[in-house]
Amino acid sequence: MKITIAKNAGFCFGVKRAIDTALESSQNKENPVYMLGDIVHNENVVEKIERTGIKKIKNLSPYQKGSLLIRAHGSAKKIVEKAATLGLKVIDATCPMVKEIHKIAIEMDAQGYKIIVIGDHKHDEVQGIVGQIPHKAIVLEDMADIKKKITKKIPKAAVVIQSTQNLEKVLQMKAALETYVADLQFFNTICSPTRLKQTEIKTLPQQNDCVIVIGSKTSANTKRLYQIAKSLNPNSHWVNSAAKLKKEWFTRVQSVGITAGASTPDETIQEIKSYIETNFS
Ligand code: SF4
Repeated sequence: MKITIAKNAGFCFGVKRAIDTALESSQNKENPVYMLGDIVHNENVVEKIERTGIKKIKNLSPYQKGSLLIRAHGSAKKIVEKAATLGLKVIDATCPMVKEIHKIAIEMDAQGYKIIVIGDHKHDEVQGIVGQIPHKAIVLEDMADIKKKITKKIPKAAVVIQSTQNLEKVLQMKAALETYVADLQFFNTICSPTRLKQTEIKTLPQQNDCVIVIGSKTSANTKRLYQIAKSLNPNSHWVNSAAKLKKEWFTRVQSVGITAGASTPDETIQEIKSYIETNFS
């Protein structure tokens, strides 16, 4: 059995940078560090970071003293401001590509454009983007949302995109939005690692009998890789550990393609590859 790991599988530079920032901040044992929610969407990575002494919290409270680590996908402005009010030092691990989306949203909002974010409403990154601006943004997850949430014509709007969205879906939504907005400014803010992964996933399912997509069930970009893979090859499966692999997926299979979301560590990818080689090939 031939096993191919996609060239751009796993950690993107934004996630690597956030993890390095977290590990570095944990060195100073005198200064407790808190992270609000998961720094990246991967349980193994979060556990590793917690083992260094960094505490995961759900809310900010006056009892916390030390530093607050801002995750790779950013936070709303009011969270950073609250941390400063409470006397916490802010360690910002927000990916530069997410910062760029914040910058566009802030600038266009200040110029009077309605901000439209194409993305998953509940995702940290989307919450962080809408939380940068004083006016209410519209978040659109899919085509159905356009009809539901845009009930009248908008004179001018600026569209930004959650960094890990699927480009094809976004372009369809852009075309639909053009009928509602007279002056539509469109910013393709899908990040470069996501674009590379999405290009790879268009060929991997066709070149292999089976596709394994590795990543946490909470990872939006892994979910999208899986959706694309599944649409092209029904024998595509999404797992987060070797324990979830099923023997029947590999019956009469001669080639397996492996890819992984941006927050999946290399150890997990290698572990799953070895497990397939040992048990199913
Ligand atoms: S997926 Fe893209 S935006 Fe998100 S952390 Fe990685 S490089 Fe940055």
